[in-house]
This record gives sequence, structure tokens and C-alpha cells, in this order.
Amino acid sequence: MSETTETHYCFYHSTTETSLRCNKCGKYICPKDAVRTPVGYRCKDCVREQQGIYFNAVPVDYVITAVVTLPLAYIAALIVPSLSWLALFAGPIVGTVIAEVIRIATRKRRGQYTWIVAVACLAIATLLPMLPRITFLLQGRAFLIADVGGGFLISLLFIGIYLALAIGTLMARLRYGK
Ligand SMILES: [Zn+2]
Ligand SMILES: [Zn+2]
Repeated sequence: MSETTETHYCFYHSTTETSLRCNKCGKYICPKDAVRTPVGYRCKDCVREQQGIYFNAVPVDYVITAVVTLPLAYIAALIVPSLSWLALFAGPIVGTVIAEVIRIATRKRRGQYTWIVAVACLAIATLLPMLPRITFLLQGRAFLIADVGGGFLISLLFIGIYLALAIGTLMARLRYGK
């Protein structure tokens, strides 16, 4: 049997004959395994490897993201209620600052889940200090709310808008690709 008439089998399916090759690593793949990319057909491994370069975060980056986001968001949450309507501007500013600090702290590595961790930590750090008063409200103790509640309800509204804007900014800055 000469080299030219040799039959080749798919790398992933040892019984499937094929003449198709990955244009990066050159291994034989059957049409089922071929992934069409802008630069030609590639095997699953090469495609995955390339996505890995795009998302190059290491697991500790998610810990760093949480460690950075929690105190910043907590400090912001202490200040924001006293800003009244200025809280509307605080959202994008806080979101931008947190996103930038995360980017620097993780050395600009891109993580697929960075934005999810950041948004979760932001929401937790913002809402947790308010939780006792929120549950207080939910229990419907109207006669007590009359004492403490009026201003609190308004600051809750501003905190809500602030949080939504800060989350939107974080997502826009930390969500890479789809
Ligand atoms: Zn390949
Ligand atoms: Zn195959």
C-alpha cells in the first residue's frame, strides 16, 4: 500500500474514513467534528484552544473580583443614600470605578464569569446592610414605618435606581463577547 492511497480515519471516530483535515493542527476530522471558522475548517480542540486565549482569566481572578467589589460596593452603599437624587449619577460612576479596579487587579485578564461575580457582589454589598430595614418593611409594620419609613422608602428608591445603573455599567464594561 503506497502513501497516496492510504485511507485516513477521523481522530475522534476511529471507524469513520475522512479526507478532511483541521487547517491548524492538521489532524483528520470527519465533517461532523469540523467547525467552520472564518479561516477554514478546524477541529474542536483548536477552536476550544482559541476561545481559551480569548478568556484567559485564572480561577483566582474570580476571588480577586469578589474581594475588590465587596468593600467598594459596601462603601458606596453607605454614601449613596445620603446623596438623594445625586445617587442617579453615582450608579455609573461606582460601576466604572469598580470595573476599572477589577481590570487592574486581575491584570486585564478576561474572564467569562467576571461580570456575574462582580454584579452578585455589588448587589449583596448594597442590599445586605439594608436587609433588616427591608424585612421590617415587608412585614408590613405600617405604624412603625410612619416613624422611620418615609425617608427610608425614598432612599430605597434611589438605592434601587443606583443599583440598576451600577449593574448596567459593570455588565457593559466586564461582559466580553457572548
Ligand atoms: Zn486542530
Ligand atoms: Zn469524527
